[in-house]
Amino acid sequence: MSSRTTFAEISPSEFFYRNRDLAGFTNPARALYMAVRELVENSFDAAELAGINPDVYVRIMAENPNPEIPEPKPYRLTVIDNGPGVAPQHVPSAFGKVFYGSKYVLRQSRGMFGLGGTMAILYGQITTNKPVTIISSPDGKRKYGFQMMIDISENRPMVLKRFNSDADGTTGTRVDMILEGDYLRSSAKIAEYFKQTAMVASYSNITFVDPQGQVTFYERATTAMPSPPKETLPHPYGVDVEAFKRIIKLSEEHDMKTFMVTHFHRVGDRIATKFLEFAGVSPKLPPKRLNTAQIVTLVDALQRFPDFLQPDAAVLSPIGEDILLTGINKELQPEFSTIVTRPPSSYSGFPFLIEVGVAYGGKVLQPGVKLFRFANRIPLLYDESSDVSFEVLNEEVDWRRYHVPQDAPVGVITHIASTRIPYKTVGKEYIADRPEIQREIRNAVREALRRLGIFLSKKGSMEAVQRKMNIYGKYLPLIAQFSTELAGKKDLPEYRKLIGEGGVIVEENDAAAAESGAAGETENANKEEGGQETIDRYGGV
Ligand code: ADP
Ligand code: MG
Repeated sequence: MSSRTTFAEISPSEFFYRNRDLAGFTNPARALYMAVRELVENSFDAAELAGINPDVYVRIMAENPNPEIPEPKPYRLTVIDNGPGVAPQHVPSAFGKVFYGSKYVLRQSRGMFGLGGTMAILYGQITTNKPVTIISSPDGKRKYGFQMMIDISENRPMVLKRFNSDADGTTGTRVDMILEGDYLRSSAKIAEYFKQTAMVASYSNITFVDPQGQVTFYERATTAMPSPPKETLPHPYGVDVEAFKRIIKLSEEHDMKTFMVTHFHRVGDRIATKFLEFAGVSPKLPPKRLNTAQIVTLVDALQRFPDFLQPDAAVLSPIGEDILLTGINKELQPEFSTIVTRPPSSYSGFPFLIEVGVAYGGKVLQPGVKLFRFANRIPLLYDESSDVSFEVLNEEVDWRRYHVPQDAPVGVITHIASTRIPYKTVGKEYIADRPEIQREIRNAVREALRRLGIFLSKKGSMEAVQRKMNIYGKYLPLIAQFSTELAGKKDLPEYRKLIGEGGVIVEENDAAAAESGAAGETENANKEEGGQETIDRYGGV
């Protein structure tokens, strides 16, 4: 009897080919949505980093125009942007190799793993066996075209055709791919994705042409752009043994002190000296002489050393109050809206910043609370109930405290900007409940709801006054008439002067009282802990 074990190695493309669920390509509906999302995100990342107001065109078209063909079926997806383009020598690998990208540096961006766009292309190839076409102009003078497929077992691009031509003076990238999709079951999510993208990226034009040829255009409402994110060094708290080894391998410094100062975020001479003393490592030791056991001890000391400075959040690119408010007002047209920006904070050595908006009333919002979640400006549309923002709204907000009535039309917008978003999956759909992040979201939401509460009690007292006045206006003439008749008199008393313009009585005390009530609430609401009561008014969303 012999048992033989066969070992084999698979390429990253092969891995994602076999495990496409991991990247969110679960079924033809979800896959179509993911493909749109990944390509659009690449366009936005590239344009924003280059400081260009994004102009993104997306078209989904059935490959076969016969409407009788049932879903799922092959769709042609085209995404065109006005970004900086991709240099021709990088195009094949950028689009034809999993884990190849320009975003491995520590910098806030939508893409993280060198995976998304390539995964969409890989999925298209798996399901239709059709090549992808990329045309890009990095200089506005020449356009470089590539028709290619991915060699899955080798994880490398196979270029089938190249074609060049003159460009029209503008830079940008165009991707044309064919994939099996189910538009019927993904159209709602895709529409929502564009709507929400337009809300946070109010400085961009987005055109979407659906398979029926219907055009939806989201027009930019401002030319102001958030300042682009900056690249940063890793913070000592965010480095593990593998990362530390990699940094040593790439380093050229001859002593540990210079090494620490050169490769870590916010480590200067003074802190480097203090840290090395703390870790029991000579500042003169050449980094390449550290053995694995020493590296493990050193990385452990990195986590325990109390004097590293907080990560600098100036490298982040929050949306900004004006731009976010412009977007919310444009897409939701609410009666009331407000933005709260929290001071920057950090988790595990990664800086992050929370921005929260609350919108109320208007034409678009439906009764009930709707949560809009964003991470590095990506709308997150799936798995809402696993997300940290959902947890905060559901379990850490006492809605009664803010006088928000049941079924009030409220939108809560949460945005986290970070050099590393703690997604729970590669599909980038929901954010882990890191305590630091949860705390910042909670504080921002409470402050925004407190402002809404004040607005609502003012509005409520105005309405109550109005209602009372209407009642007086209606009954006073009758009362006057009856009492005149009862008294057996003929002339009505002068009640009319009691009623103001439009038949209402002005009673100033009411409004003032209500306002002071709201202010009393403010103090309570401002306490950042407490209010842990669970109100399941959010459940129905
Ligand atoms: P990721 O976005 O995670 O880096 P992708 O596979 O989506 O991975 O993209 C790989 C790389 O291709 C990106 O890092 C970027 O450098 C480049 N790229 C993709 N699309 C565009 C685009 N529209 N404009 C400019 N560069 C792009
Ligand atoms: Mg990407």
